[in-house]
Amino acid sequence: MNRTPPSDRAQDGRIVASHGRDAIVEDGTGARIHCRLHGRRLAVVCGDRVGWIAATTEGGEGLITELRPRRTTLARISRRGEAEPVAANLTQLVAVVAARPAPDFGLCDRYLAAAEWEGLRGCIVANKCDLPESAAELDAVLADYARIGYVAVRTSKLDSIGVEALALHLDRQTSVLVGQSGVGKSSLINLLVPGVEAIVDEVTRATESGRHTTTSSTLYRLPTGGELIDSPGVRDFAPPLPAPREIAGGFREIAALASQCRFADCLHGREPGCAVHAAIADGQVSRRRHDSYQQMVKLAADLAARDPRIRR
Ligand code: GDP
Ligand code: ZN
Repeated sequence: MNRTPPSDRAQDGRIVASHGRDAIVEDGTGARIHCRLHGRRLAVVCGDRVGWIAATTEGGEGLITELRPRRTTLARISRRGEAEPVAANLTQLVAVVAARPAPDFGLCDRYLAAAEWEGLRGCIVANKCDLPESAAELDAVLADYARIGYVAVRTSKLDSIGVEALALHLDRQTSVLVGQSGVGKSSLINLLVPGVEAIVDEVTRATESGRHTTTSSTLYRLPTGGELIDSPGVRDFAPPLPAPREIAGGFREIAALASQCRFADCLHGREPGCAVHAAIADGQVSRRRHDSYQQMVKLAADLAARDPRIRR
């Protein structure tokens, strides 16, 4: 490979597709340049802002020389148990649930908590609303989320129900769709991004050099406004957990009450004078959400006890 050294001629760009050491950078004029990463230590993900220089490389036209600071980072836990970025500079996380496969609201709470910790907007989509099964349970849980201020949208790929409403919430945002496998994320992306398969083919053809051991991720511009980042790696990721004490920051209705607890360091477990428990008894805070919170506190404590160095 022809290695051109980094220089101060670096231009601003945005990563709109990433595939191992290859990436497609969009410059300020909207032109797309196939770039390779300069140097082993540089790693980028979709949504990153970078500095790049024109340079002929093996199959490419540019070299990415610099990663600009990330405003937000969405990470997953890698196989080695470390936090691994999967998308950058997101503004919104959309958690998708459905009646089938059986909804895992604990996972949904973990996604929404990850959004809170990272300062992202959280939004919930209940897909497959054409299915009658467990509709009452799903509706009740959605009402709980709506009560604490989350946007909740019902959708179905049949007749594209709710897809326009969802598109309105994606406008002006950079979003990801996350959720259990099988809830209908690909189906929704197909409805939101016309010609998505052709785009994926083109990106893969442009960026795959050598063996394709890595999955690619792509940033789509939605015809109705907004951006959507998709990659198999972000769809059902497990977000890393912070320290037990920081878990409450992921549950907005619990965090809002914490200052009213008797003890400043209340973990809203069994402490006397806990305002969160009083609110559960009054029906102001959902018991199900508090259960999710406690499970996450316990998991975070177990992980911290096992390896205090690793954040997960
Ligand atoms: P993903 O794993 O989350 O990407 O889910 P897919 O989009 O692959 O969908 C999984 C299955 O659910 C497929 O068989 C889809 O046809 C089906 N599916 C997706 N959306 C809907 C929907 O709105 N209603 C119904 N009845 N089935 C759906
Ligand atoms: Zn408390």
